[in-house]
Amino acid sequence: MTDTTIETRLFINGEFRPSSSGETFELRSAVSGEVLANVYEATNEDVNEAVAAAKAAFPAWAALSPYDRGRYLVKLADLILESHAELARLEAESMGRPVSSYFDAVAGSKYFRYFSEAAYPQGSSSLNTPGFVNITLKQPVGVVAAIIPWNVPVVFFCKKLAPALAAGNAVVLKSSEKAPLTSLYLADLAKKAGFPPGVINVLSGHGPGAGATLASHLDVRALSFTGSSRTGKLIAKMATDSNMKKVILELGGKSPAIIFDDADIDAAVRDTRFSIHLISGQTCMANSRIYVQRKIAAAFLEKFKTAFASSRMGDPTDPSTTQGPQADKIQHATVLRYIEMGKETGTMVTDGQDAPGLFVNPTIFINVPEHVKIMKEEVFGPVVIINTFDTEAEAVHNANNTEYGLYAAVYTKDLDRAMRVASRLEAGTVGVNCTSPTKGDDMPFGGQKSSGIQRESYIHSMETFMETKSVLIKVEGLGA
Ligand code: NAD
Repeated sequence: MTDTTIETRLFINGEFRPSSSGETFELRSAVSGEVLANVYEATNEDVNEAVAAAKAAFPAWAALSPYDRGRYLVKLADLILESHAELARLEAESMGRPVSSYFDAVAGSKYFRYFSEAAYPQGSSSLNTPGFVNITLKQPVGVVAAIIPWNVPVVFFCKKLAPALAAGNAVVLKSSEKAPLTSLYLADLAKKAGFPPGVINVLSGHGPGAGATLASHLDVRALSFTGSSRTGKLIAKMATDSNMKKVILELGGKSPAIIFDDADIDAAVRDTRFSIHLISGQTCMANSRIYVQRKIAAAFLEKFKTAFASSRMGDPTDPSTTQGPQADKIQHATVLRYIEMGKETGTMVTDGQDAPGLFVNPTIFINVPEHVKIMKEEVFGPVVIINTFDTEAEAVHNANNTEYGLYAAVYTKDLDRAMRVASRLEAGTVGVNCTSPTKGDDMPFGGQKSSGIQRESYIHSMETFMETKSVLIKVEGLGA
């Protein structure tokens, strides 16, 4: 049954409105399969209007002092935090995300609060050219676009918009067709926070339509994208072919965790289990490959199996539930397909798939050859490979033997070894005696190899959202 209290319209120039064609797409609950909402699909015309609204709003927004922009950001931060329960409910009902592990409102609110008071990038000056005083100016790029995935949409909404807005840009965000509701909810909060019309615009719709139009738009000057590596490659091409817009790409992962035989086994089991289990394995940095040194492999596996089996599947709105269903039918079918592949190439040491609806039983494979598909590709489900290794060199080689390079972890009490391995792992982030989602708040986040381009998070995001201009000032009487 469609819930008429849920906002399903597009947010353009400060107003909610239906799409120009009146067309909608169905959003089904991952739990019941029922239609939860009919959401308006943005057309090319809607995208053009949203970008035009942002372009018109940009000069006045950019002219405000950082302090004055910050006042809007801090209001929005407070409203997001106050909406924690409602945002958690929307994600639970639509995508099956358990409310027990919902952290997005807190994390998202922190981005807006941080950027409301951030130290703004300032230009530099140089006296190194005789006869000149040279300076650089840091200026907002104009219209920034954001295209986000469905797994943690509130975090990505905030992570992209807060720095872009703080830097003085106006934004157009397109949410994922699988998770449009919380972005529209946040658009409503932005309206309540009093943002001037056009500074924030939020569109719903599919990738090849609204997404592609936005990525190719000539008036968009920077694009921050999070999603799969497959789509990321298309986005990079569209950005270049259209107007060479600046891009941040945050893409997929196949993250390894290496556990040496001197590690604290219980801590390693606890952390790695949490990483692959969070949101039913649907996170980019989940440690989906675990390499354990031979001496402790049997003990690690036994403990991991017990921990993995303790998940409580059920109604995601029930606070005692720790594992929800996969987000939709496609995601569920994909995970089951990978499990079948895994059975052909490795040894499954957990029970079969008798889970109801879109739920997937936590699944472990051991002895999986390095070259097979399940070892190389992102499964995005509660499926983990636990292989053994003998030497440090072998562990690092296998961990790096993938096109992905988002996150890696190493567990050992030997500091020299930890630092050797951390420096050799090909990943944007390496956890030492910790694994994803652990992450330093003010550290750059992003991927090596096919896991991405550029770095996001806190002050690091601002670079892409600003231009650096050199101004060369000839000064009479100064030097040559
Ligand atoms: P996806 O690539 O299918 O979609 C992401 C977004 O791109 C959606 O809004 C979609 O509508 C849009 N899109 C799809 N095709 C497009 C096109 N041709 N042109 C323009 N836009 C298009 O990814 P997804 O399934 O939503 O998300 C899961 C993926 O995201 C996983 O690979 C995961 O690892 C990755 N992810 C990465 C990070 C990170 O920080 N590196 C974080 C979360 C998720």
